[in-house]
Amino acid sequence: MNLASTVTEKQESAVIREVETIADEMIAFLRGLVQIPTVNPPGKEYLAGAEFIGARLKEFGYQVQYVAAEGRPEHTRAHPRVNVIGSMAGSKARPLVHFNGHFDVVPVGKGWTVDAFAGLVRDGKLYGRGTADQKAGIAAAIHAGEAIRRSGVKLLGTLEQSGTVDEESGGFAGVAWLAECGLIHKDRTDFVIITEPSNVDRVCIGHRGVYWFKVIQHGRIGHGSMPHLGVNAADHLADVIHEINHTLKPRIAKRITNMPVEPPGSRRPSININAVFGGQPEEGTQTPCVIDRAGAIFDRRFLAEEPLEEVQREIHELLEALRRAQPAFQYSLEDLMVVHPTQTDPSSMLVRTVSQSIEEVLGKKAPLIASPGTYDQKHVTRIGHVKDCIAYGPGILDLAHQPDEYVVIEDLVNSAKVMALTAMRLLGTA
Ligand SMILES: [Zn+2]
Repeated sequence: MNLASTVTEKQESAVIREVETIADEMIAFLRGLVQIPTVNPPGKEYLAGAEFIGARLKEFGYQVQYVAAEGRPEHTRAHPRVNVIGSMAGSKARPLVHFNGHFDVVPVGKGWTVDAFAGLVRDGKLYGRGTADQKAGIAAAIHAGEAIRRSGVKLLGTLEQSGTVDEESGGFAGVAWLAECGLIHKDRTDFVIITEPSNVDRVCIGHRGVYWFKVIQHGRIGHGSMPHLGVNAADHLADVIHEINHTLKPRIAKRITNMPVEPPGSRRPSININAVFGGQPEEGTQTPCVIDRAGAIFDRRFLAEEPLEEVQREIHELLEALRRAQPAFQYSLEDLMVVHPTQTDPSSMLVRTVSQSIEEVLGKKAPLIASPGTYDQKHVTRIGHVKDCIAYGPGILDLAHQPDEYVVIEDLVNSAKVMALTAMRLLGTA
């Protein structure tokens, strides 16, 4: 099946010209969106963010729906979790292309030399928290769709756009919620493009897996002057960390994925300590005590080639070996979070179409990449069961969460062209 055949060169050049004409409106929209400080945590100004996006979608002819995550614990009166989705039906319901972008941004942090929420434009760049990651992607997708409409080209399938919350904190009240409500679901959705930063010329086809777990060591309290009469839990935690560093890490470092993870250093599995705790509070009066409880939270990133059961068994066996060797070694192991790795078929129509559009707009081949961390693609594939999902957007990935975050305006415009060509080719034109 090649829907691209219905799109003429004349239609394509008309739409490309229209993207250039609409560029100033797109920049003004992005500035306005950056000026709403939708900071997560705690999830500030989400309603204002959703309404700002919804108003523009309405103005551009979409059927707009606000979807609050009713019943989710993080959806509170103080910080409501509100998503927005706009739908523009073509002459047929299918195929359906859904552009999604998250409008929550991480806290500002230190080191800024410009106002993080002013939307300053200088030297061809638009500055602000959440420009690259990823309000620029939202602006590009919405104005790509509008450029098609203004050019007079009629799409055959349905075009959808959504702005969602909480990606930075897991996306459960955002994309996961839309998927659970059936709004992003294989029964109605064919292709999902998440407009996360991919450096304008790359296509991100998936991400590695995540396994977070907590190990707690249980000791026996005693007097610090007679530690031989107690069992120090911190000593045993140190044994666990030592085993991980000297046995597990060298073993997993031999494995490598076939996924094109960027940076290449992340093509091997990894394990990192997120937190260490135990003993008496750092501030406050110290008493001479043998620590009877100590623990750590670990972040194990695993490859598509590593079955989760094996990843978990390796941890369990490492702890059991330590327990067998030392009678006083007592531990508990708790799973905190699992995210399965996901990857869209590189030869799928979606990946080929976006790659081809990038090549035409930018005049160079589009590398396929995969992300070392995760993003909302997991919810699209695992809850929505839509297997054709990628991330593509104008932001520079390395600038995400950094001080003086910006998007290059030329990248913003070029990505809108890529998105417009992609939508036309996937949906077909009359
Ligand atoms: Zn993001």
